[in-house]
Amino acid sequence: MTNDANQPAAEDGDIIYPHAVPFVLVHLACLGAIWTGVTWQALTLGVLLYCARMFGVTGGYHRYFSHRTYKANRAFQFFLAFLAQSTAQKSVLWWGAKHRHHHLYSDGEEDIHSPRHTGFFYSHVGWIFDRKNETTDLAKIDDFARYPELVLLHKYELVPAIILALLCFATAGWSGLVIGFFWSTVALYHATFCINSLAHVHGTKRYVTGDDSRNNWILAFFTMGEGWHNNHHAYQASVRQGFRWWEIDFTYYLLLGCKKLGLVSDMELPPQAVLKNEHKLTARVINKAAADLAASFDVEQIAARIRGSLPTLPDSTELHARLASLSLPHVPTRDEVSAAAARLLARTPSIDAVIDRAHALLLEKLGQKIAQA
Ligand SMILES: [Zn+2]
Ligand SMILES: [Zn+2]
Repeated sequence: MTNDANQPAAEDGDIIYPHAVPFVLVHLACLGAIWTGVTWQALTLGVLLYCARMFGVTGGYHRYFSHRTYKANRAFQFFLAFLAQSTAQKSVLWWGAKHRHHHLYSDGEEDIHSPRHTGFFYSHVGWIFDRKNETTDLAKIDDFARYPELVLLHKYELVPAIILALLCFATAGWSGLVIGFFWSTVALYHATFCINSLAHVHGTKRYVTGDDSRNNWILAFFTMGEGWHNNHHAYQASVRQGFRWWEIDFTYYLLLGCKKLGLVSDMELPPQAVLKNEHKLTARVINKAAADLAASFDVEQIAARIRGSLPTLPDSTELHARLASLSLPHVPTRDEVSAAAARLLARTPSIDAVIDRAHALLLEKLGQKIAQA
């Protein structure tokens, strides 16, 4: 992805509509099936290309280039990058850098694609065409940006997809191009994007991760294991995302096959403590989860009630210190925060630390609100 310095300046947050045109055209190309018809040969090609390239997305873009959950020799590394980029989801350097940013700020305000802050459509697809996401922060992916062959693929990011499209046309004609290539490319787009959107909205939470990531078996099936997204946010270094035997993870099974063939090695697995959900949360996750827990209380309303019940407001400078010792019925107690945690959060041995932090945050916010009055 290149940054054109001659482009007229636009405000942050603008969606670059001209850049979205090829993306829309790829969708429209799928309608070509009206004229080419749908042959079994082309349909089989489409399904095969979907599966092979989904492995490029999950085993390549995600588990290798973004998270380095296993090691690959240099030739296989190039193959993974080429296969991933044949999906036309930009370069592995762009994809990896953006994804690392996502994990750094997941569902915080700086997250580039959080349904919580930006809405579902933007988190699904809009962010890709946002001017502020156009360039690649190579410093975030300098471990791979040092390979000239990956930099070349970065510069000519669409070449793998164009070569594949031509091969589809050469082997199966127009229906091979439309059904085999375009249908599978569009399906891959939306299956991948669903992990950024749906997997942060629908599903179950096994782990406290301080974000909205979810486990969703339907998504896991169509994305070859990526739907175990709450597992993944809980332990990103793991090559395996389905932590239970029944959590199917085709990408992991394929990587096991690659390991047998000597193509990959050093596959990182989650420690037993993580598998059993007995690990202590980091301070960062505790703080994020506590902030969300505190935010589940309506501070404005509670502050208004407290203000109404006080005949005279104490001096604002001493208010925060005094608030904790006040026995007002309207101030949420630690037990109430604990009850909210039981309702909203998954099981974790760090739950007391989350509740204590959330309770302190809540009192702090209440103190500020009342002092503002
Ligand atoms: Zn990830
Ligand atoms: Zn995520």
